[in-house]
Amino acid sequence: MFMGMTMQMKTNIKDKLQKIDKDHLKLLSDIGIVAEKTDLKAYLVGGMVRDILLGYENLDIDIVVENNASKLAEALVKRFPNCELSAKHDKFHTAKVIFNINGKKIPVDLASTREEIYEHPAALPTVSVSDLKKDLYRRDFTINALAVSILPHNFGEVADLFHGLDDLKDKKIRVLHDLSFIDDPTRMIRAVRFAVKLGFEIEEHTKLLLNDAMKSGKFDNLIQKIRGDRVKIEIRYLFNLQNVEEAIKAFFESGIYKMISVNLKPCRGLSRQAPTNILRDCSRQWLIYLAVIIKDLKTDEQEKILTNLQMTSDEIKIVNKGISTYSDLVNRSINITSVYQSLKHIPNESVILINLLAKLENNEKIGSLIDEYIENISKIKLNICGDDLIGLGVKEGKEIGKILDKIMELKIKNPSMKKDDEIEEAKKLLKD
Ligand code: ATP
Repeated sequence: MFMGMTMQMKTNIKDKLQKIDKDHLKLLSDIGIVAEKTDLKAYLVGGMVRDILLGYENLDIDIVVENNASKLAEALVKRFPNCELSAKHDKFHTAKVIFNINGKKIPVDLASTREEIYEHPAALPTVSVSDLKKDLYRRDFTINALAVSILPHNFGEVADLFHGLDDLKDKKIRVLHDLSFIDDPTRMIRAVRFAVKLGFEIEEHTKLLLNDAMKSGKFDNLIQKIRGDRVKIEIRYLFNLQNVEEAIKAFFESGIYKMISVNLKPCRGLSRQAPTNILRDCSRQWLIYLAVIIKDLKTDEQEKILTNLQMTSDEIKIVNKGISTYSDLVNRSINITSVYQSLKHIPNESVILINLLAKLENNEKIGSLIDEYIENISKIKLNICGDDLIGLGVKEGKEIGKILDKIMELKIKNPSMKKDDEIEEAKKLLKD
């Protein structure tokens, strides 16, 4: 079963651990002390280990315990008054504790070493408690299957059972066994994500497995067949990457796009130019790019994809409003006032989406009007409000909104209007 396994190498990364945030380091060492006293073996695992070795900051503490996480969680809560149990899932053999250190909350995920058995491809696995080797074997890639002991007697010692250290050095993304992508196809999205994010290469054999899996057709339109929320999580990570243009290129080139829909087509011009500065600040960058990708599909297929990915109603609204408003703007003659009217009630992310679509499709007219809207018009506020109009004799109701809207249109043309000017305009409108 563990064909690629060798004797455990005694690499120790204590020196690298000393460089992480002091509170986190102290916490790891304290947890290790309690684990050793409780006769449990505890290891730091996953992304934090990988990133410490690569010299990146990652403060997500994932601990595996051989083989009783809840016992360690209970011991920690008992030992430290600033540690509270925030969750415990006996079925999954996991627990979460939160430490309060100098007013800062530091969550720690604890999991018993587990084995996963996949009854059939892409199924949710059956989980049972196992030893460290099997826990590491169930992981996605060798670089994510490193464990670092946090016990005092060998703090920092790395359990490198699948040559993860070599792969980190050689910048390779490598699965642990040939059925990895079949067991869990979301790992293919993860492979692309880590390759793009870390600037690594998907190792040759792993690439072959990925290509074969995608060519087999088994994973075409996967989100119609499995829980789409798991795919959504991975797409969110992938399209939230800094180098999203590269991520999308790899998404198409690798063939993993077919999991969403075989009808998707690579989008034009993505690498050319995008309003990246606005997008980087937007926490829903991923959603905006997903919308760009599905925009040219038929509306009912777009809707199916959003539903299958288990999007929230807010997310669906952002995508739908963005796509429909864009096509509306493309099909009529527009100026800054009509753009304001179209955009004023739609979510900010939809506006960003429209801007991106305009830039990608080289629609300079829409692009520059939306730039103007984002940079200036959306910031204009009226000095008067409904009460001022009521003071002028307007009855409460829809009329107030209509008048304020007309004054806003005037202010868009003349942003230097003061409160008195706005009241004068209101009076004029009331006379008409
Ligand atoms: P990042 O910091 O970029 O989120 P990460 O490696 O911490 O990266 P997570 O999704 O938080 O990513 O996963 C934590 C760890 O759990 C991984 O490092 C990996 O060992 C394991 N893991 C996560 N998802 C899978 C999966 N689908 N199959 C196997 N192992 C997985």
